[in-house]
Amino acid sequence: MKNIILGVALIGTVAMNAQTQIIAHRGFFQSQPATTENSIKALENAQNLKIYGSEFDVRMSKDGVLVINHDEHHGKMEISETEFKELAKLKLSNGERYPTLKDYLKAGKKDKSLKLIVEIKPAKTEALENEIVEKTIKMIRDMKLESQCEYISFSLNICKEIKKLAPDFKVQYLRGELSPKEIKEAGLDGIDYHYSVFEKNPTWLSEAKALGLITNSWTVNDVEIYKKLKEQGIGFVTTNTPDVFKAQ
Ligand code: MG
Repeated sequence: MKNIILGVALIGTVAMNAQTQIIAHRGFFQSQPATTENSIKALENAQNLKIYGSEFDVRMSKDGVLVINHDEHHGKMEISETEFKELAKLKLSNGERYPTLKDYLKAGKKDKSLKLIVEIKPAKTEALENEIVEKTIKMIRDMKLESQCEYISFSLNICKEIKKLAPDFKVQYLRGELSPKEIKEAGLDGIDYHYSVFEKNPTWLSEAKALGLITNSWTVNDVEIYKKLKEQGIGFVTTNTPDVFKAQ
């Protein structure tokens, strides 16, 4: 009887752990040759790794071109204050052409099994944020990539604007100051919080799951933290070490 109980507990644990999916943070670039973050190569590496998804950051140039870049600057150029043709003169550090959102989505479309986790970066005004959201959604719809994309943002305005224009799109909030209940009330689909937020609020993961929210955590690069989140039944982790976690 004891063995049966242990066996059931073990199956339960395995089943729960199996639910945790891995997302490469800015693509899979760490420790990879000729790869820099947010490059097409980083996206292709994530495709080859056969994980759930690959995350990347969207910003807009002064003349309205959507580009893939984490920081506010590309080299010394402030992206929102620079025309795309100037930005494009500077290649990525691995020699690649400076990627636009369109380039990135085209590359992502080649492997439908890898989800594209679109992070829309906060902009200087709500009007600019809304323009970025509208253009991003239009491009994704035009390219028929709706079912392959999910959305994250530190801007609550951006998250709400996505849900307003595309109620079916999955949107997770990143900043971490809102409880699962507040996220549910705001009409969003999930929380994608820094792992320290879950340590400070130990009931939030179970509360989020009970509310039917997506649960995700960034940027988890430590195996022990990954295992702990897995044991708590988190849905996703976003990491710079997707290869290491996949091998666990
Ligand atoms: Mg990001």
